[in-house]
Amino acid sequence: MRLYNTSSRLVEEFRPHEEGKAKVYTCGPTVYHFAHIGNLRSYICEDVLVKTLAYAGYEVKRVMNITDVGHLSSDADTGEDKMLKGAKREHKSVLEIADYYTKAFFEDFGKLHIRMPDVVEPATHCIPEFIHMIETLLEKGYAYQAGENVYFDTSKLKKYYTLSNHNEDELRVGVREDVDEDTNKRNKTDFVLWFTKSKFDDQELKWESPWGRGYPGWHIECSSIGIKHLGEYMDIHCGGVDNIFPHHTNEIAQSEAFLGHPWCKYWFHVHHLVEEKGGKMSKSSGEFLTVSVLQEKGYDPLAYRFFCLQSHYRKPLEFSYAVLDQMSASYKKLLKRIGELSEDGTVDEAAYAEYRTRFTEALTDDLNTSMAFTVLYDVLKADISDTTKRKLVESFDEVLSLDLLKGYQKAEEAQSVDAELEAWINERIEARKAAKKAKDFAQADAIREELKERGIAIEDTREGTKWKKI
Ligand code: AMP
Ligand code: ZN
Repeated sequence: MRLYNTSSRLVEEFRPHEEGKAKVYTCGPTVYHFAHIGNLRSYICEDVLVKTLAYAGYEVKRVMNITDVGHLSSDADTGEDKMLKGAKREHKSVLEIADYYTKAFFEDFGKLHIRMPDVVEPATHCIPEFIHMIETLLEKGYAYQAGENVYFDTSKLKKYYTLSNHNEDELRVGVREDVDEDTNKRNKTDFVLWFTKSKFDDQELKWESPWGRGYPGWHIECSSIGIKHLGEYMDIHCGGVDNIFPHHTNEIAQSEAFLGHPWCKYWFHVHHLVEEKGGKMSKSSGEFLTVSVLQEKGYDPLAYRFFCLQSHYRKPLEFSYAVLDQMSASYKKLLKRIGELSEDGTVDEAAYAEYRTRFTEALTDDLNTSMAFTVLYDVLKADISDTTKRKLVESFDEVLSLDLLKGYQKAEEAQSVDAELEAWINERIEARKAAKKAKDFAQADAIREELKERGIAIEDTREGTKWKKI
């Protein structure tokens, strides 16, 4: 498996710490709002990564945290606490917000066929582990207390900018000009490990600690949860490119200071989904695009997955409805083509092995997903039995996860149900017209009840009868 490593800036041969095993960590969501489809692009690409590793024979263990405390809106130690912001917006407690949006997040995983990580750990479950790590960093001289907070001292490291060059552009995210500098910090790049006193006096969740009642910084959670579940050596750490600085840079600083040796070997970063007019898709800019919004507009979530897989994860991907329309049409066409394959013929084992190898080679070449699709289309065109094709499609779908074999049949069934319901709705409209004249609504009401049982709500309005799925 060849993989681009942000740490070396090279495509490298993947050599895990323990042969045959791949220990993978993914930064999970900050659960103060729904995930937008940009966030989900990152998780879809990471899903393809772990499924490719499994396809290539690795035993994969994937761990994900849930950020339910400590993430401030600037990604550094400034701005508002995101969870608190969500709770205030919805007049709920932080834990209620966390619970609600964690569920919503994994529902999106289901819709997009993203495999659940093997371990999902909310930050609020690991406070003792964070405290232990911070205590060790203090003992080793990598941390200091100031203004009643605990800070990591970046000047104690031989090298701090491990993932990025010391470049103003990348620094911009972390150290903004428009915020008051924290005068407790000894160095500009130092960051908070534990807050006890800060401007967030209304912080809802606080825990006892050797430094007073308070709460952890954001970065410590991923280092600590990663080490807790994957041990001292991690193979691949994933996230979106915005995580490179400061989040992942700080994770490396703390983890290596704590462990006393190199920690994670490969850094996998997904580039952003961008809006048509340029900028990164985010929760605050433009239309807040979620999977549910796409569904309300009639798109199949898997068409969005298909769209993401057409481009390389290391290139920004521009979102527009026009392109999504094209992608949906190509996806439907592909499903139809596969759905029409017969069950005829026997499996041509040599052809099966050959195409499977080509597909694996494409994906293990730094996740060349568009090449993987070329192999799939080549299979469909090839002069081999339909049974061989079906078997190959089934195998490829272990990674692509696009319902390739059953999707067409499902869409057909959904359509035929709709046709049947439409006939009923029309029948009721006629029955109601007749009922008005005869002043007997029994038949129209009976049909209304029948439709309700089938999940259709009827509403008679001045403009006529309307219906919706319930
Ligand atoms: P958050 O919930 O803000 O912590 O973000 C969750 C994940 O989504 C992180 O790995 C981010 O790097 C990633 N992310 C945020 N915005 C985008 C975007 N527009 N495109 C792709 N990934 C993103
Ligand atoms: Zn993280």
